[in-house]
Amino acid sequence: MRTYCFIAVLLWAFCASAKVRVVSTIPDLADVAQQIGGDRVETVALLRGTQDPHFADPKPSMMVALNKADLLLSVGLELEQGWLPPLMQGARNNKILPGNAGYLEVSQFVPLLEKRTNVDRSEGDIHKGGNPHFWIDPERMRLIAKGISTGLQAIDPEGKAAYEAGFKAYDAQLQAKIADWKAKLAPHQGKKLVEYHRSWIYFLEFSRLVSVGEIEPKPGVEPSPSSVSALLERVRQEQPRLVIQEAYYPQNLSRLFAQKAGAALVILPTMVGAQGTKNYIEVIDSMVNQIIAHLN
Ligand SMILES: [Zn+2]
Repeated sequence: MRTYCFIAVLLWAFCASAKVRVVSTIPDLADVAQQIGGDRVETVALLRGTQDPHFADPKPSMMVALNKADLLLSVGLELEQGWLPPLMQGARNNKILPGNAGYLEVSQFVPLLEKRTNVDRSEGDIHKGGNPHFWIDPERMRLIAKGISTGLQAIDPEGKAAYEAGFKAYDAQLQAKIADWKAKLAPHQGKKLVEYHRSWIYFLEFSRLVSVGEIEPKPGVEPSPSSVSALLERVRQEQPRLVIQEAYYPQNLSRLFAQKAGAALVILPTMVGAQGTKNYIEVIDSMVNQIIAHLN
């Protein structure tokens, strides 16, 4: 009997320490999974918040993380298609391959903008399924969080109640912050700006700010002095107040455009870890606060 108990205790210790291993592409998804899963999960992101999620250098450490993963969270819509598929293939882990419960593209949980029926590559880097930059809309992040909670329950059914409670608490936090962000942004509805890459449309929908153009002449195509002066001609009359962009894009032509247009160039974080942000709520806080500071 004593031996049996001893083994039972050992087993309990082993089970209690075996966490669900969640690997995400962008760090925001790891953060949300951690908020929901608490100590039932351990999370790691393949990208840092300062990296361009369209491109990444596959590293052996990424493959090791994927090899041990129980759940892979990706954005989807081909955002990661340039670098993730070879890593998934090389990881030798069937759990995280498409079709299995351990593979979750979170784009399935949100209403998408800019869906296209046919895509002509001459239009630039356009994603057929829709624009993939949806995670910076906190309303959509609520839906993603719900989807992640369901996904965690599918691979760890014993944790159902814990994941549901974790989601509820995080969703309440998000809702309170959303009310706060909306109140701060409300006086600026309809104000105009220029984006560098077309990565802000979901946030613009949330904030009710309006984009009058992009510094990139086509998605994924670097601007030139002549494309930027053409843009200036086109949007001068709209008097955009801001140029917004991520830190990983070049700033020289955006700065030139901003000077000539009389706008402020504002570099914003779009992923956890950029500009010292520690979690998703801090990312949106920073975006909202920096934007309104330039509009007040
Ligand atoms: Zn993009």
